[in-house]
Amino acid sequence: RDAYVNGRYVPHAQAAVHVEDRGFQFADGVYEVVCIRNGRLIDEDGHLDRLDRCLGELRIAWPCERRVMRLIMRRLIGRNGVRNGLIYLQVTRGTAARDFRFPAAARPTLVMTTRRAALAANARAGVRVITIPDIRWKRCDLKTVGLLAQVLGKQEAAERGAFEAWQVDEDGFVTEGTSSNAWILTADGALVTRPASHDILNGITRQSILRIAAAEGVRFEERPFDLDEAYAAREAFVSSATSFVTPVVRIDDRAVGDGTPGALGRRLLEAYVAHAEGAGAS
Ligand code: PMP
Repeated sequence: RDAYVNGRYVPHAQAAVHVEDRGFQFADGVYEVVCIRNGRLIDEDGHLDRLDRCLGELRIAWPCERRVMRLIMRRLIGRNGVRNGLIYLQVTRGTAARDFRFPAAARPTLVMTTRRAALAANARAGVRVITIPDIRWKRCDLKTVGLLAQVLGKQEAAERGAFEAWQVDEDGFVTEGTSSNAWILTADGALVTRPASHDILNGITRQSILRIAAAEGVRFEERPFDLDEAYAAREAFVSSATSFVTPVVRIDDRAVGDGTPGALGRRLLEAYVAHAEGAGAS
């Protein structure tokens, strides 16, 4: 298995960047995770558009042309023979002597790795989530490699027997999971997820689900929801490139609905898989 590092395909075990890389020193970089199904990339354009936006906001140059990026992704997937799994790509501001200010002349670092994975069994059985305070910075719309709050949150979830932690803002509203967007179906039948803002990462899967919901005539509202509303929800689920639409059957110590995956979640998952294996992939 190979990794891609700055123009070279190298064996994964030997793939490395410099100790002065700003990704390592400052978390001064951004990343994307794109799901691969049947050898094809799901929502590739959406992920590259988000990468473009994040790089622009942070004033990091593209490491290569977008066309070349697409080519490298395909080459690495081909070399590694990945039919189902994911590709991880990371761009940092580059390597330079440690100084907070942008280096005058650093070339961005581009790294890619792949991983094989089948669609998790979670998506069928449902998962538990816990809730934790959202202690992240105020630009959660940027997909940076500064993920310490998410590392701590996910570890706490694991130690408490849960799959994910939903982060809660100072006003008591759920922002999102540590690595997924959060959704509920309210007691009165509306699909609710928090609107895109600086408070959440606008998931590419989230955007696809909203399009699917609109096309299928599902009533949805993009607005914040609090824990009381979440506890009273009929259904809940999380979404991300790797978890698709994964039903949530427990939030803290309360069962969601009857404690089993709900009908809307199942329907959206099926529609999303059809999208992933059909026109949305390339
Ligand atoms: N929110 C956060 C904080 C995430 O890390 C992720 C996963 N990248 C998501 C939401 C879901 O985004 P996507 O659907 O693009 O994977």
